[in-house]
Amino acid sequence: MSNFAFCVLGSGSRGNCSLLKTSETKWIMIDSGFSMRQTKERMRTHNICMDDVSDLLLTHLDRDHFNPVWCRSLLNRGIYVHLHESHVERGIRAGLDHSILKPFTTSIDFESLHVETLHLAHDALGTVGFVFNHLECKTRFGFATDLGRVPKTLLDAFKSLDILAFESNYDPMMQRTSGRPGFLQDRIMGGGGHLSNEESLNAVKHIAENSNLQHIVLLHLSKQCNSPAIIRDLYHDNLAHLYNCVTITDQDRCSRLLRFEKQPTSLF
Ligand SMILES: [Zn+2]
Repeated sequence: MSNFAFCVLGSGSRGNCSLLKTSETKWIMIDSGFSMRQTKERMRTHNICMDDVSDLLLTHLDRDHFNPVWCRSLLNRGIYVHLHESHVERGIRAGLDHSILKPFTTSIDFESLHVETLHLAHDALGTVGFVFNHLECKTRFGFATDLGRVPKTLLDAFKSLDILAFESNYDPMMQRTSGRPGFLQDRIMGGGGHLSNEESLNAVKHIAENSNLQHIVLLHLSKQCNSPAIIRDLYHDNLAHLYNCVTITDQDRCSRLLRFEKQPTSLF
């Protein structure tokens, strides 16, 4: 029996951090955009502590995904930091120590987990999406946030998933009437920033057709230009059979702990 557990400590433009457990032992952290104090506080919701974390995977190094105050603590605790090779230089400038850096290009391997990594468009250096494959039970979990667009490479890789965590950043109408400066709207909506709810939904629909999704976790909702009610309506109208699988994450609150178990003899 595989033991997948996943929670989002918080997600949005003011901080992102998630935790994944795929064995009886340690947790893997994805992004660390909050202060250490706030992270520990939120981890307590599910009785997790920093000693339980072995590795940190970074999607990219924007301040809402990596808070540099973590550098010393990561080194002291011996937590390995996995980041795309194109992000290494920026990581070192931010204060990460060489000795704990584990650069990757296309994959990361843990004892019971193979992680496919995808470099995706986002601002200058791009971001990284992950597909976590549990080696024994073939459970597959796709994770992608801060996408400028959804490339074919992502849709090709995000197949046969059991769990999906995916960005759903903004409602286009709310974005256009937000009063934000034009350059900022262009950065967000121009294909190199974030995904609208509709772009996200279309990708989720496509992925769902080629998967057996048990959980859909929606990430990085804009506080100013989105609302959970809009997303719920979209899913109700367009993907009703998966409506009950959807978890909408919050900037200020930890999500529930999603558990997933699959027998090794499953079809995947
Ligand atoms: Zn972000």
